[in-house]
Amino acid sequence: MKGDFPTLFERSRSGRRGTRPPSVGDVDLAAMLGADNMRSEPARLPELDELSVVRHYTNLSRRQVGVDTSFYPLGSCTMKYNPRASEAAAALFTELHPYQDPESVQGALQIIYELQEYLAEITGMDAVTLQPAAGAHGELTGMMLIRAYHESRGEGEQRRVVLVPDSAHGSNPASSMMAGFVVREIPSGADGEVDLNELRAALGPEVAAIMLTNPNTLGLFERKILELIDAAHQQGVQLYYDGANLNAIMGWARPGDMGFDVIHLNLHKTFSTPHGGGGPGSGPVGAKAHLAPFLPVPTVKREGERYLFDYDRPQTIGRMRSFYGNFGVMVRAYTYIRMLGAAGLKRSSALAVLNANYLRKKLKDAGYIIPHDRLCKHEFVAQPPAGLHALDVAKALLDYGYHPPTIYFPLIVKEALMIEPTETESQETLDEYVTVMAEIARRGQEDPDWISHTPYSTPVRRLDEVSANRHPRLRWKPEE
Ligand SMILES: *Cc1c(COP(=O)(O)O)cnc(C)c1O
Repeated sequence: MKGDFPTLFERSRSGRRGTRPPSVGDVDLAAMLGADNMRSEPARLPELDELSVVRHYTNLSRRQVGVDTSFYPLGSCTMKYNPRASEAAAALFTELHPYQDPESVQGALQIIYELQEYLAEITGMDAVTLQPAAGAHGELTGMMLIRAYHESRGEGEQRRVVLVPDSAHGSNPASSMMAGFVVREIPSGADGEVDLNELRAALGPEVAAIMLTNPNTLGLFERKILELIDAAHQQGVQLYYDGANLNAIMGWARPGDMGFDVIHLNLHKTFSTPHGGGGPGSGPVGAKAHLAPFLPVPTVKREGERYLFDYDRPQTIGRMRSFYGNFGVMVRAYTYIRMLGAAGLKRSSALAVLNANYLRKKLKDAGYIIPHDRLCKHEFVAQPPAGLHALDVAKALLDYGYHPPTIYFPLIVKEALMIEPTETESQETLDEYVTVMAEIARRGQEDPDWISHTPYSTPVRRLDEVSANRHPRLRWKPEE
């Protein structure tokens, strides 16, 4: 299983077949499809028997570390279990086509409509779009709503600046820039929270919005959130909530009640749909009533017993994605919400917070440093014991069969290990993880040579990440 892993193209043998499609008989394809659309030479596809293909993909999947194989505490990514019931529900809808007459897909529209309603209720917003295909895409959508809102009030030219704390996810400044804003960074205070005085000083008539994550990426709840929002609103500034991980507060507190004007959620985090190579995402956006007219078209509305697409939105920012978003992901999230119910969602947040605090205490006992050592929410940031590097701890974990935590993020903590256990892990799993983390710390301090060369057991060892980023090889090409 180690070392070279030939591609299907390299395994190809001329004339070998898995299946043969039925003959088209005497149909004149050129007449039907247009002669210009016909291939002059056959496509260069690999030729293999079915068993070789099955083995290829099965063996590839076995080289992965994933939530189905092991504990995966990747901070900020909420790698919780993806229930198989949600998969089964999504599989019921695979034969729908987006061009179908809405009358023939009323059940699908009902799911979209009800999911919009559930998410509005969970977040405390007035209207929701399910169109964006990822969290960052939701951020872009939300920032475009804010821009459209300021423009509608004749303040589009004036309000150009977006304030983003230095603990923010990198997608926040990127989305603001893409939506045409200028980003200004707000420093965090010593307590890891946004510095309210710095923020107040940065507010002004040129500021369009503040993007905030709460609990922030240190896993800390911003205790001055109400004052902060009040100060911003007094200056006409809109509040954007990065709700990629709502996992800590779902059912307990609502961003809409805190005063936020717009939010995006990641269904592929909080609502347990697969991600990280497991499938497409979905980043719904919720908005307060004053921003709702700008939402993308179409949304789904209900008239009596019928569900229909609503295109009649004169102030809309337009379409953010083809068709209606990633519908299969919506079905999974819908199933998850219906399975858990309101009480279950609330309990899952409580358990996520409990698990994070349990690990925080245990890892501290095991010698790890906790720079902001207070009650955390769904995640926390640790540092390795003296002399060890976050990267080495992460690589060593691979040899013990665990996916590493997020490392070197947030940027405001040196050697950060950002750990998010989620609610779906048992106490035994957390205890085993602590044992391994303690062992890595002890062994790494005793034997620096050992830890600096980990991992030993993976198909590839330490990668040249700089070259991988600068010169990515994203597809196989035949040697000329
Ligand atoms: C994951 C994440 C995002 C971005 O979500 P994508 O679906 O990866 O685009 C944004 N903000 C935070 C805090 C996140 O954790």
